[in-house]
Formats: sequence, structure tokens, C-alpha cells
Amino acid sequence: MDTKRIDLLNLDTHELTGLVVGWGEPVYRVKQIQHWLYHELASDFDAMSNLPHALRARLRQTTSIGTLTPRAEQQSVDGLTRKTLFQMADGQTVETVLMRYLDAPGSPEDAADAPNIARRTVCVSTQVGCPVGCPFCETGQAGYVRNLTFGEIVAQVIHFARAEKAAHSDSALTNIVIMGMGEPFMKFNVTWRAIEAFTDSARLGMGARRITVSTSGYVDGIQQLLAKNSQVNLAVSLHAADDALRDQLVPVNRKYPLRELMQACREYVHQTHRRITFEYALMDDINDSPAHAQAVAQLVRGLLCHINLIPLNPTSRAPYRRSPQARVQQFEKILRAADIPTTLRVEKGIEIAAGCGQLRQQVDARRAHSVS
Ligand code: SF4
Repeated sequence: MDTKRIDLLNLDTHELTGLVVGWGEPVYRVKQIQHWLYHELASDFDAMSNLPHALRARLRQTTSIGTLTPRAEQQSVDGLTRKTLFQMADGQTVETVLMRYLDAPGSPEDAADAPNIARRTVCVSTQVGCPVGCPFCETGQAGYVRNLTFGEIVAQVIHFARAEKAAHSDSALTNIVIMGMGEPFMKFNVTWRAIEAFTDSARLGMGARRITVSTSGYVDGIQQLLAKNSQVNLAVSLHAADDALRDQLVPVNRKYPLRELMQACREYVHQTHRRITFEYALMDDINDSPAHAQAVAQLVRGLLCHINLIPLNPTSRAPYRRSPQARVQQFEKILRAADIPTTLRVEKGIEIAAGCGQLRQQVDARRAHSVS
């Protein structure tokens, strides 16, 4: 991939207008190009049949439609979850996951034909690696490399939108979660430009309420989101309800301790009247005791929220193991008894390394093995 080319997915409408009008083209070409990029999901300039040949040739010579190349893919046994490792123009890699949820219980054969898929959610990454460094997370331990451009975030969605359209012609993506590799609020403006591309009717046109952004607790980012008056859903990776433990599990807590984080969450609910989701990954003998559950209930009491309990995706990182089923159920029971809305996350593709960063780590390990 020629890195000097302009990535069209990394241009907002204003920037694309500047480019196209700067070439002496009429402004209506912008709408036509965006229609091909985001509605027809074209991957090739030759498909853009209502553009003059000269304009298509210029686009082909100087621009690209995204910069991602799929390098590895895994599919869950039931066929509902797919994870793709993308390589970008500079050779760095990120993961993206497509999760399909059945409308009614169906067999894997049903899933393959997809007659009863209720939701199609894409989970996108925002950074190569992650500077937050959570010790139980493959991405956090692999080290931070760089932020993605907003075009690289948008391209992850476009890839799966195209794949779903090709497989089942009337099957649009229904949800986007910004919850993959990286901390999306570390570069708020980049994440916000991606959200604009997702929601802008001239581009992907998805309702803001169908988009969720998940933070490890970047209070500045929560406040910047609030300032946008957006209807985007907010999720916070909590994982501990006291500062001493959270300092270890989610090191950004040392910068934004729980008192500040919870204050920002209360402001969010007060201003938006929207419910916050707290993600809580249950780790054996680390944060899964009845006392931990009671501390969580105490922390969020009175807040419009929902707790999403996640059995940890096992990695090679001792001592962070998945909690035994009995302790998971006990934890859930304590929260429910305290009237805290709680769900246990449906496991999507544990057998395909659906934990953040695990496919990337596996591919890197294979590469290292093959050159040693
Ligand atoms: S869990 Fe999320 S915030 Fe923590 S290191 Fe992994 S990607 Fe970063």
C-alpha cells in the first residue's frame, strides 16, 4: 500500500469537498463519491459508474478506499463470531470482531444461512497496542505502538459491512462498539471523528444509540463526550470497586481514581438521562469474592446503570484466570439482590481467541517461531 495516497475513508465531508472541488470538479461529485463509498460499499473505483472516467482515473492514481488488508481470520464453531486481523499501510496490525446474535435459538446451520440474525455488531480497535497496560489483557501487555487514524477505524466497519452484504444482501450492521484494542478516549478527537463517520447520514448513517464507546476510565474523555451532547452509549471498564485493586488492574485509575470517575459517570447520567454500562471482568481470586460484589453494589448504588459481568477470556497471563462458574453466579446473585441490573455477558467465540489482542499475539508468535 502506497502511504502517500490519500485515504478517502479518512476524509470528512468538508475535507472531501476541498479535495474534489480543488480538482475543478462540481460539488455534487462529493455526494456521489460518498454514496459509492458508504452506501454501495464499493471497493473499486471502476464500480463508480456515474463518475467521469477522468475523475475515476485521478481517484485511482492518488487515493485509496481504506488502507487495511486482512491478514488472518478466525470463525467460531457456531459460525456467529468472526475475528479479523488487519494489517495497515505501515505494517502494524489490529483486530476487529463481528458478533452476530440470533433472534431465536437456532442451529449452527441456521447461523450459516443467517435467516434469523437479530443483531450484527462490529467491535473496532482504536490503537495498535494500548498504553493503559491492564495486566490481564493481551493488548495491554503487548505494549503501545500508535493511535489509529479515524479512517483506519472506519475501514474496520466497512470491511464487515461489505462482507455481510456480500453474504446476505439485506443484512446491514446494526451496532458498533468501540471496545477493541486501545483506549478510545486517549485521542478523543480521532474517536469522535470516527463516530461522526458512523452517524453522518451521508456516510454510514447509523443511529448514535446503536454505538457504544467503552473507556477504561478516562475522565477527560467522558467530559469531552458530554460536551458533544451525543446519544452515544457509554461503557466503563470497572473491574474493581476500590482504588488499591483498581490501581493494579486498570492502571489509569492512578490518574483518575474512582471518586473522580464516579463523579464523571454521575454527570453523564444526569445530563444525558442515559444508562451507563459498567464492564466487570471476573478473575479467579482477584476480584470475584462476595465482598468485592458488595463493594460494587455500594459503589454504583443510586446510579442509572447496568453491570455487565464478563468471564475473563483466558490468556497466558498468570495469575489472571477465569472465575469458577459457582463464584460467577454468586457474584451475579449479590448484585441482583442489591437491585443492581446485572447481566452475564454471552460468551462470543472464546474458542477463537475473542479476547482483545489474542489473535494478534498468536499470529506474532507464529511469525517469530517461523523466523527462529
Ligand atoms: S483492557 Fe482495554 S484499556 Fe486495558 S490494556 Fe486492554 S485494551 Fe487497554
